[in-house]
Amino acid sequence: MKNKQAMELYIHIPFCKKKCNYCDFLSFSGKEYRYWDYLEALMRDIRRYGGHTVSTIYIGGGTPSAMPIGFYDKLFGCIRENFFLQPDAEVTIEANPGTLTAAKAVEYKRVGINRMSLGLQSTVDEELQTLGRIHTYTDFLKSFEIARKAGIANINVDLMMGIPGQTEESFKTTLSRVALLHPEHISAYMLMVEDGTPFQELYRTQPERFPNEEVVGNLYEMTVAFLAKKGYEQYEISNFSRGGYACKHNIGYWRRIPYLGIGLGASSLIDDTRYRVTTDLAEYLKELSYESEKLTMTDIKNETIILGLRLKEGISYSDLKEEFGEGFAGRTIARLGKYVEEGFMEHDYDRFYFTTKGYLVSNTILSELME
Ligand code: SF4
Repeated sequence: MKNKQAMELYIHIPFCKKKCNYCDFLSFSGKEYRYWDYLEALMRDIRRYGGHTVSTIYIGGGTPSAMPIGFYDKLFGCIRENFFLQPDAEVTIEANPGTLTAAKAVEYKRVGINRMSLGLQSTVDEELQTLGRIHTYTDFLKSFEIARKAGIANINVDLMMGIPGQTEESFKTTLSRVALLHPEHISAYMLMVEDGTPFQELYRTQPERFPNEEVVGNLYEMTVAFLAKKGYEQYEISNFSRGGYACKHNIGYWRRIPYLGIGLGASSLIDDTRYRVTTDLAEYLKELSYESEKLTMTDIKNETIILGLRLKEGISYSDLKEEFGEGFAGRTIARLGKYVEEGFMEHDYDRFYFTTKGYLVSNTILSELME
């Protein structure tokens, strides 16, 4: 993994207080005794791959805010010793209500964290219970206030559509309550029923508890319209921001800017090679092991289309031509024409992007567009 150009840095914290009922992310509960060993392993890898200029840092999980006081002081000390962090770097931490304290937020601010992503999901306590979250709406309000008081001026709130028992009315309540707080950024994701989760079993035995596709589609359309009215611009399928607060780190990911992933299961994209760190915690704590795969030109083209079309700005003929030549650019754009006719896409000169209706069926369309 040798490359000295500016890149984005992702750090994975694979620990949670309790596993949520829908979650298949790489995270474990009940492993508090591993926190400090894990920090040592992260610092081992940071030292190994130091030397880069870093434009953004994203600490994701898991629940990064579950880590004890002092964890991020040490981690950022190591990051600053080994990387050159650009002065205007966006530095995000994911935090979950129920784990964030005022002292932790003060530490985050002190080490240079300037953006917080709060995992709210819903403001309706019954829905939070169904999801198996550890927090209530009141806990979230406290966390939001703690973050603001600590001086975090850029806050994202994560919401979820498709929760069992959720209705258009209850989701409207959630959206309205969140908008009143004026976070700089809101992410609204659709619940996916993942293999091996308690929700898979719930879906198998009581599918009627889940809002159907039509209801979830309505929730999505309602979200786009509601947030637009409140001054949030949609810049990606699930992401909305007030002026200037789009997440730079994630935009970099969708534009295929090189990134270095540190930590269990983290992936990196460097020189069109994808690296994936082992997902075995015991192995990772002993030594860094990872797999790598050099992407083919077809992989790169497919990723460019799939990731580019997630963004509201979409993809353009001229960009594709510059990167891949006239043949591929012409072929791709010609295939988009029918989606424009069907109302799934719009275009502005040579730039094509999904409409709200198109985003709802984007998985199907993207699979049709793969080379
Ligand atoms: S807090 Fe997030 S990462 Fe942890 S179990 Fe719940 S959904 Fe998964």
